[in-house]
Amino acid sequence: MSSRKPTLDRAEIVHRSWDAIIIGGGITGAGIFRDLAAQGYQVLLVEQNDFAFGTSSRSSKLVHGGLRYLANAQFRVTYESVRERETLQKQYPHLIKPLQFLLPIYDHYKYGAAFFKAGIGIYDIFGSKWNHGSYTSAQIDADFSTLNHKELNAVLYYYDAEVDDSRLVFRVLSEGMALGGTTLNYCCCSGLLRNVSRKIEGVKLVDALTGNEMEVHAQVVVNATGPWADELRLQVQSEKVIRKLRGSHVLFAQDRFPVKYAFTIFHPSDGRALFVIPWQGMTMVGTTDLDHPESFEREKPEPFMTGQEMDYLLEAVNALFPGLHLTEHDIISSFAGLRPIISMGSMDPSKASRTHRIFQDDCLFSIAGGKLTTFQRMADDLIKHIRPYLPERTSRQTAVPLKSGNEAMPTLDPHLFNRLSGIYGATLPDFLAETDLDELQPLAHTPYTLAELRWAIRHEMIWHLPDLLLRRTRLGLVSPEGGLATFEIIKPLMQQELNWSEKTWRKEIQDYTKLWKDCYSIPSK
Ligand SMILES: Cc1cc2nc3c(=O)[nH]c(=O)nc-3n(C[C@H](O)[C@H](O)[C@H](O)COP(=O)(O)OP(=O)(O)OC[C@H]3O[C@@H](n4cnc5c(N)ncnc54)[C@H](O)[C@@H]3O)c2cc1C
Repeated sequence: MSSRKPTLDRAEIVHRSWDAIIIGGGITGAGIFRDLAAQGYQVLLVEQNDFAFGTSSRSSKLVHGGLRYLANAQFRVTYESVRERETLQKQYPHLIKPLQFLLPIYDHYKYGAAFFKAGIGIYDIFGSKWNHGSYTSAQIDADFSTLNHKELNAVLYYYDAEVDDSRLVFRVLSEGMALGGTTLNYCCCSGLLRNVSRKIEGVKLVDALTGNEMEVHAQVVVNATGPWADELRLQVQSEKVIRKLRGSHVLFAQDRFPVKYAFTIFHPSDGRALFVIPWQGMTMVGTTDLDHPESFEREKPEPFMTGQEMDYLLEAVNALFPGLHLTEHDIISSFAGLRPIISMGSMDPSKASRTHRIFQDDCLFSIAGGKLTTFQRMADDLIKHIRPYLPERTSRQTAVPLKSGNEAMPTLDPHLFNRLSGIYGATLPDFLAETDLDELQPLAHTPYTLAELRWAIRHEMIWHLPDLLLRRTRLGLVSPEGGLATFEIIKPLMQQELNWSEKTWRKEIQDYTKLWKDCYSIPSK
């Protein structure tokens, strides 16, 4: 790919007077970007790779309070997260969906059912709802036959919510763009600009697609680079604050590991809480929580799950679901992400605080820590910090709400309509107007349709195959061999919509296949 689409007018980017430049296109940057755009500020967001390339496409997909944070006495994080869960479900109803969790309690657990019931009760009080309870033995026998029944004392249930994290990032970014903000993916911030009195006045950018360099000025620079926040900050500071903790997940086909509800389970060897989650037609299991050594970053281009982590996850599911005899050969894909945790020494990773912090160095504001669930609170907090440095703007808008009901295309199946409205929000009518109904059939036993692929390629700033297969859709995770069966469908789309030559296609497939084997498949031990 030699040049960008005409929408990037380099002169426009360089000569415009930006109020704020946000570095990092994960959920943290996206939330700040949208809210600043809504408040009338001139805002530019740049992402060095693809949007949601970092942790924000690699989470456990939960919009949740986190029962385990409650167990670690992180009451404030849990309270704020539960409140945010409630708000976000109303804001993004079909993208963030309620999810029932089951919590099996065994006789050998350190704490009994009464302890967990109390925890779930507090959780529901925080969320101003009362929607939890326990299953009877008869229901357990009938509905959860695959669960280990030996020493099973009780099965409790409660509710949290799930999301496609990278679609949430893109939805929030789209809202910000509709409100006048500008975004660039594949555009890396390589340094800070300073004036003669050493005051920060902007950033140096490198367009990763062309190699072109730009100097762009702004009143404020926001460092929302998540696990990489220290890298930019080290240009003005010597103190490192981020502890990168790796978390990995594996995905199984539902016919091999069928679950109707999510489970919170405890690992038999160390008692850590893990999740088993039905997601995108698959069963996802995670996560681990380990320090991520720098050598791993040199070894492969993206975080990856190790063989030990895979064994650890398999050990847990086989202890809780012994009759399934799951092995590594049942794993369809894996993925790993890095938690941008604010360092508190070498404390147990699972107990490290999930709160966020803001660091100010002149006009560089770095924000790190936090959770996907709390991104709007993080954005509020950051904007409070930077407002004194921004000019007065009077405009106040909110993102355009999606029209309710199925009026845009009455013939659409309601389940599909809801799914699409969650993904596209206010742009759904445009999507439907441009879509051929025949292209709304699910592809190769996945939830995705040809129409979504075409729309993504046309309108969602796709530059490379992983953008389409790993983030705009999850075909690379939910379909065997990284979506191999869909390559022949995707090839003509890329050729029609992006003018890819045969040579470009071959190179993209080669790079994607290597990346998938290195970072998304079953690890070598
Ligand atoms: C395994 C795991 C499971 C999790 N599960 C949950 C969950 O279920 N629910 C929940 O609420 N939270 C969860 N979290 C936490 C949550 O995912 C993160 O807190 C959140 O995604 C962090 O978002 P971010 O935008 O700060 O960072 P990121 O998403 O990593 O975004 C930072 C971006 O900055 C870009 N960048 C870096 N340097 C530059 C540069 N120089 N120029 C331009 N761009 C740059 C990166 O490419 C990256 O895309 C989980 C985290 C992990 C690791």
